[in-house]
Amino acid sequence: MALKTLFTCFLFSLYLSSPFLIPINMGDRKDISQIQLTEIGKFGLIRKERKMIPSHLHTGIDIKRPGKNYINEPIFVIASGKIISKRTDGPFAQLIVEHHIGNTVFWSVYEHIAGIVANLNETVYPDKPVARFMNKMELDKYGWQFDHFHLEILKLKPEKIKPDKFHPERFYNSFTLICYKATDLEKYYFNPIHFLKENLH
Ligand SMILES: [Zn+2]
Repeated sequence: MALKTLFTCFLFSLYLSSPFLIPINMGDRKDISQIQLTEIGKFGLIRKERKMIPSHLHTGIDIKRPGKNYINEPIFVIASGKIISKRTDGPFAQLIVEHHIGNTVFWSVYEHIAGIVANLNETVYPDKPVARFMNKMELDKYGWQFDHFHLEILKLKPEKIKPDKFHPERFYNSFTLICYKATDLEKYYFNPIHFLKENLH
C-alpha cells in the first residue's frame, strides 16, 4: 500500500513539474538568475541603424556564455519541440523550433549558434544539446560581438519563406528586423526572461 502511494506521488510530481529548462548548461537549469545577458542583450533595446538594416528593437535576449569554455559550450532548447527551419551560414546560423506545450503553441529561435547537431523536422528535447556557442576560432573569424547566443520566443508563427540554394533548409523567417515600435514587439514576441520566469516551475 505504502509503495503504491509513493508511486502515485512520484507520477503526480512528474506531471506537475514544468517541461521548461533554461537553454544553457548551468547547475540549476530551473533558475532564471543563471542567465546573464550581454551589455546590450536586453529585450526591446533599440538597435542602431547598420548597413542595409534600419534601426529596430531587439526582439530577443543575448545570452552570455556561462563560463570560459571556448571549445564546445552547449546550447539547448527551452522545451521539447520540432525544428521547422535551420540555417548553417556562419554567424547567422539559426534554428527555429515549434512547440506545442499543453494547449499553447509558440516558437523559439536560437541564433549566432554553431556546431548544430539537430536535423530539420527532428523533435528535440531540452536535455540534449542542439548546438553550441561559437568556439574561439569562429569568433576570431566572424567577430567577438557574436560571443553570445540570441534567443527569441514568438507568439505568432514565423513567416514562411522559400529555401534557396544558399539556405536549403531555411523554411521560416522570424520578425527580427521589422519591429520598430513597442506595439510591434508586443504583437510578435514574448520577453524571454518573463516567459521563462513564468514557465520554469
Ligand atoms: Zn540579439
